Amino acid sequence: MQLFPCPFCGLRAEAEFHFATTAGRARPEGAPDDVAWARYLYGEDAPKGLTTEIWLHTTCGEYFLLTRNSLTRLITGSEALR
Ligand SMILES: [Zn+2]
Repeated sequence: MQLFPCPFCGLRAEAEFHFATTAGRARPEGAPDDVAWARYLYGEDAPKGLTTEIWLHTTCGEYFLLTRNSLTRLITGSEALR
């Protein structure tokens, strides 16, 4: 099992975390049509390589940024959102 670094709790088991979204996604402006809205809600890009994602640590309830390589699973950073 992989360990994830929560900025508030330290290294914890991956099972304690929940993926929220890829960081930096822009919400459609104005009144988007159904296709644009669905693409925003469900159209994750799943980029390969270095990614910055928003994760929730379900144990402490805090959201944070996690930087990792999606191919190698190497985690290179963890930063609080508040
Ligand atoms: Zn935590």
